[in-house]
Amino acid sequence: MKIMLTVGRYFKQRFGEKVRKIPISLSGFTCPNIDGSVAKGGCIYCKNETFSPSLVMKKKQDLDNKATTINSIHKGPQQIDSVHKVKDIMRLKMNFSLTENPLLPTQLRELEEQFYYHANFHKNKYGIKKYMVYFQSFTNTYAPFDTLKALYTKALKLPDVVGMSIGTRVDCVDSKLLDFLEQFVKDGKEIWLEYGIQSIYEETLKLTNRGHTMEGVESLFQETRKRGIKVCAHLIYGLPNESVDMMIHSLETILSYGIDSLKIHPLYVVEGTALARMYKKGEYKPITLEEYGEATVRSLKIIPPNIVVQRVSAGAHDESLIAPQWCFDKNIQMRYLRDRLKKEGIDY
Ligand code: SF4
Repeated sequence: MKIMLTVGRYFKQRFGEKVRKIPISLSGFTCPNIDGSVAKGGCIYCKNETFSPSLVMKKKQDLDNKATTINSIHKGPQQIDSVHKVKDIMRLKMNFSLTENPLLPTQLRELEEQFYYHANFHKNKYGIKKYMVYFQSFTNTYAPFDTLKALYTKALKLPDVVGMSIGTRVDCVDSKLLDFLEQFVKDGKEIWLEYGIQSIYEETLKLTNRGHTMEGVESLFQETRKRGIKVCAHLIYGLPNESVDMMIHSLETILSYGIDSLKIHPLYVVEGTALARMYKKGEYKPITLEEYGEATVRSLKIIPPNIVVQRVSAGAHDESLIAPQWCFDKNIQMRYLRDRLKKEGIDY
């Protein structure tokens, strides 16, 4: 039996006990692929709240408080000056010409609130005593350097926090940031950068409006790992025009670059996205559960046992999900995958 290194098993080995990732979603953060810096409209499947529990929580709070977030700039006519300013600052971040961020106090407060909300839940319900802060929504390195410094430093000072995981894009990390994060590694903290790759095929990246290519990704991974920062690569199976063989080739390619961890997701269609429009016009056929099962089995067979496989499932549990329907219930999805994997001698 091949025993996969799940994130739970990894944390147990590394810290001797259970560790929970605490998802964080902050006002003002956006993505260069949404705000027009590299592209407009975002990836064709992107609707951040379908994969971010804290964003759902924050949106509810925002509605309650009648506050405005960067999201509302993209989704509605309501706009306020400070958010506009931050949006512009975020947009200019890549040339590091601005450092001012009027939303920083709000972001620091939200970080604390969201951390305690989730940490207390896991502490009281499951007796969890250690946490990793997970900056999850949008692009969490896409902000003025001083903002990132303040947020990351604060995150790692929160009680019982052993490390931090930062979700980002391959075009939003530079050596200044890596050098800064390396200091935390030297202090004994566990630091992960989660890079969205999705596919190694340029035609797929173009078709899905990723707004970046694969150029330089291999050396970025090397630069990250050289500093003791762990690389978690995200892949999506079921992207338009991709066969199972292509999905496996994407996986083999990023494994050859050298990574520490993986997240594999099935692509699902949610309301309000460009992918939904393609699907409704018959231009996109979602991956079936059987095909996804085949891709997962083939993947886990070739993933070395020292790579942390953080997830192989994903879904949207609300009315926004259009297709495939098997992505509505992650438990059904995982039962099916675990059964198939077990028959192949893989324990996940
Ligand atoms: S990179 Fe991420 S946040 Fe940005 S548009 Fe794509 S899926 Fe959305």
